[in-house]
Parts: sequence; structure tokens; C-alpha cells
Amino acid sequence: MDSQRVPAAVSAGMSSPILILGGTTEARELAALLAARGIEAVLSLAGRTANPVAMPVPVRLGGFGGAEGLVAHLREAGIRALVDATHPYAATMSRHAAEAAAMLGLPFLALRRGAWIRLPGDDWTEVTDARRAVTALGPSPRRVFLALGRQELAPFVAAPQHDYLIRSVDPVEPPLAVPRARYILARGPFGETAERAMLEEHRIEAIVCKNSGGGATYGKIAAARALGLRVVMLRRPELPEAPHVATAEGALAWLDHAGALRGV
Ligand code: NAP
Repeated sequence: MDSQRVPAAVSAGMSSPILILGGTTEARELAALLAARGIEAVLSLAGRTANPVAMPVPVRLGGFGGAEGLVAHLREAGIRALVDATHPYAATMSRHAAEAAAMLGLPFLALRRGAWIRLPGDDWTEVTDARRAVTALGPSPRRVFLALGRQELAPFVAAPQHDYLIRSVDPVEPPLAVPRARYILARGPFGETAERAMLEEHRIEAIVCKNSGGGATYGKIAAARALGLRVVMLRRPELPEAPHVATAEGALAWLDHAGALRGV
């Protein structure tokens, strides 16, 4: 075997894990599938939530320092394959991942869950970003459920006429600078029955959310349809071209086919 062609970490007898960029249920599911097969993997989290749920593989926390930082990390850690299983709205991380993998010629897969499809009875207004969601809500005071990340709330300060209900995993600090906002701390999944009860209890008239896809947060969409509520939906961002699958099982099969599960 030509030792020149063996990645440094492998030739030095060190491990050569698969790196999963996470923050999603699918990332955790793929980590579990790999762990169950004894395949070494590391899961990377941005470190946004104070108490992330337990993971079945070792976790590293925090940004890499752009695409260049990720390239350096992939080299130093002797990563054998990269899986971008970030949330469909984490477009910057996805771009960096695609660039870094291309630079190193590393097997690269995106694990992207499908978007929700509008069904009969859905009243959706699709917008490109949170600022346009504010415009779409209109000037009349409404009771609005904001199902967005903490970092995406700032534009709603421009619409203080609404009465907001805001749900997040960690507290919104500082609170949104609007006269009427109530906060709920909760971590999904959120089923339709509980979502409907919450929307009714707070007499919500409109929901602002992302098209996250998957089942864990679909309850509010189904409940909105049943209650005839309007949904202002942030469109998905453009993501880089990459081979992609929609499930953890699909990712495992792709990695196997790419030869990334052999000889760990
Ligand atoms: P983003 O805008 O694409 O990423 C911003 C920066 O955060 C990246 O450039 C990177 O920093 C760092 N980062 C993001 N994901 C990372 C990961 N898995 N591991 C290490 N560093 C990471 O992403 P975001 O919207 O802030 O989302 C951050 C994380 O939350 C992602 O892991 C995503 O899966 C999860 N999440 C996001 C959403 C959402 O709606 N956006 C919803 C649920 C969960 P450097 O440039 O320094 O490397």
C-alpha cells in the first residue's frame, strides 16, 4: 500500500471518525445508527442551547472559524467523511461544509429533511425572511405565535402593535422590546393536540414559523389548518449542491456505498 496516499491520522494509527454536523433529530439518529454498528463518529453542535440533549457519540461544541477553520479541523481530526445534518435553515454552515469537503476531496453527504407541502385548508403566506414576515402580518394588531429561533426575533420590534407568544428552548434574553410578549420555554416534539390547545388558550390569530419539515414541529401546522389560522412561513434558504438523502437510514446506506464505513 502506498503510504503517501493514506491520511496522516490513519497512518499514525489514530482513529478516523465520521463527522456529523448536527443540531437536528436526524443527526442524532444517524449518530445512533453508527454507534450501534461500532463505527466511530463525532457530532458537532454550534452550542446554541444551554443543555443539549444527550448524544450517542462524542460531541464537539462551537464554530470552526469558517470554511478554512473547518478544513483545518477535518485534517487535524483525520475525518474520513463529512455529513451535513444541520437544520435546513443553517445555510452558512452548509455552505462551509460543502466548500471544505470539496477542498479536501472528502466524501460529503447532506442529510436534509423534506419540506412541508401545503395541503387543502392551509392558509400560508410564504416570505423570504423575518422582516418580510413582519410586513406580511400587516398593520392591524394581531395575536401572533412566533415559532422562530431566538436570533430571528429582532425584526418584530418594528411591529409593536401585535400581542406576541414566543416559544424557545432557552430564555429570550433580553426580552423582545415590545409592549406585549409572553414566553413559553419548551423543547419539542410538539403534537397537534397540545399545539391546538395552546393556540386556542392564547387565542392566536397567526403563526410565524419556518418550513422545518419532519414530524417534530408539524403539530402547529396541522393545528393551524384545523383552526383556520394564517401561517406566515419563512421560505427555506438556498443550500449548496450536494448529494443528499432525507433520512438517517438513507445516510447510513449512502456512507456504506461510498466506502466510508469500511476499515474503521
Ligand atoms: P448557520 O447560520 O448556518 O451557522 C452560523 C455559524 O454557526 C457557522 O458558520 C458555524 O460557525 C456555526 N455552526 C453552525 N452549525 C454548527 C455545527 N453543527 N457545528 C459547529 N458550528 C456550527 O446556522 P444557525 O442557523 O446559526 O444554526 C446553528 C445550529 O443550530 C445548527 O447546528 C443547526 O442545525 C441548529 N438549528 C438551527 C435552526 C435554524 O432554524 N437555523 C433550527 C434548529 C436547529 P463557524 O463559521 O465559526 O464555523
